[in-house]
Amino acid sequence: MAITPRKTYTYSDIENTTEQALVPTLAWSQMSETDHFVQFYETDDFLLDSLSGYIGKGFAAGDACIVVATQAHRDGLEKRLQAQGFDAQQDGYIPLDALATLSQFMVDGMPEPERFAEVIGSLIVRASGGRRRVRIFGEMVALLWIEGNQPAAIRLEELWNDLQTTTCHFALFCAYPTHSFTGEEHRARFAEVCQRHSQVIPDESYSALLSSEERLRAITLLQQKANSLEAEVAERKAAEERLREMERRKDEFICMASHELKTPVTSLKGFLALLQHRLSATGDESTLRYIDRLNTQVNKLTKLINDLLDISKMETGNLDYRLERFGIDALVLEIVENVQEAAQKHRLLLDGHTGAEVCADRDRIGQVLINLLNNAVKYSPRADTVLVHIAQNRGQVVISVQDFGIGIAKEHQQKIFERFYQVTDAEVKTYPGLGIGLYISCEIIKRHNGHLWVESEKGQGSTFHFALPLY
Ligand code: ADP
Repeated sequence: MAITPRKTYTYSDIENTTEQALVPTLAWSQMSETDHFVQFYETDDFLLDSLSGYIGKGFAAGDACIVVATQAHRDGLEKRLQAQGFDAQQDGYIPLDALATLSQFMVDGMPEPERFAEVIGSLIVRASGGRRRVRIFGEMVALLWIEGNQPAAIRLEELWNDLQTTTCHFALFCAYPTHSFTGEEHRARFAEVCQRHSQVIPDESYSALLSSEERLRAITLLQQKANSLEAEVAERKAAEERLREMERRKDEFICMASHELKTPVTSLKGFLALLQHRLSATGDESTLRYIDRLNTQVNKLTKLINDLLDISKMETGNLDYRLERFGIDALVLEIVENVQEAAQKHRLLLDGHTGAEVCADRDRIGQVLINLLNNAVKYSPRADTVLVHIAQNRGQVVISVQDFGIGIAKEHQQKIFERFYQVTDAEVKTYPGLGIGLYISCEIIKRHNGHLWVESEKGQGSTFHFALPLY
């Protein structure tokens, strides 16, 4: 019988060598009737070589062979078997599609025990014909694992074990690609998979080594690698913990500092109002103009402090929302008029009418619109118009603020909604700000089950939209 030359060695190659001391005792011809072993593999070639050894030995011993695999693996196996002189019509050979077989007993993402026993049990009884030994290759567990349904894969391994001990005798070969276990999160489940098998065969990086010396070296290197990886993971976890602690302290500091700043600024505002009142009585116009400017600066300071306070409340989930039902048109008009008073260089043009009501925190929605309008004015110093549009669309009210300013390049458009993110192009860097207005706005809109997004092109202005569900 002609056997194709192989690049790597499989168990069928080494079962006759004298180097078996460090190899798991498994050799296809010595396998017990009820072995349930798992082979890990890096390449399909290695798996198929190994599998053809297993099935080939089965045919030679007159066993029935059931192969539940993907089409590609069935094709690859049959090609190898043909090269060994077997034919795919071989008596006792039952190839099945893994996905189609799975669909016969999976219910709500888990294998259903009774259906499994019925489907697979009857298959085995049919294959054995009451007298033959049965060898099975099953790839359904690996498919479940790869698609991310690891609990179902482990459950299915258990059902195979139950079937083996309660109903019928058969040997079972499972195989998993090694790369599907990469990552710390698989550590516990990998151990579970190994536990569900009577024998575990490492992938080709170990199995392909023939001499005991090579194998001892490989084990030593792997132990060293495992130790350093463990140390590295522990180090990273400690670093992440330190980072979280620093973040927590920073949030605490922002919260404390903004509270501390708020008190003097509030009294400053109070004294300014008093001064304004007194000066109005004396008619000192020029000093009153200075007071106006002072007021503007104090208002800016108040807004910054409030934003910082909001952010620290958001981080701790303590930002309160007072929901009420109100007409959105009136709010938009009111805010546009207020912002217009301060924005002397720009005309804010409002268009659209919805008559719609929303259930939301009126002040917070107003705060979002103020943020967008202030940004529209701030980032369009050479333009003189900002358009505000309000419309109703598919159960939502959509408010849009369009400016004709510097615009935002595509690569920044998602990031500007992140905390403290500011575009750092030389041209944009000159604008004052902390990079928190959009983050706060976005959080507020999300908390109202709405959506905030931007359309823009660099140098062509920007349009920010937000949508809120109708009442
Ligand atoms: P701030 O304006 O205080 O920096 P924001 O969170 O409001 O913070 O905005 C984040 C960044 O998004 C800004 O730094 C700016 O680069 C960009 N941006 C926001 N609005 C506009 C706009 N209308 N036009 C151009 N860029 C904008």
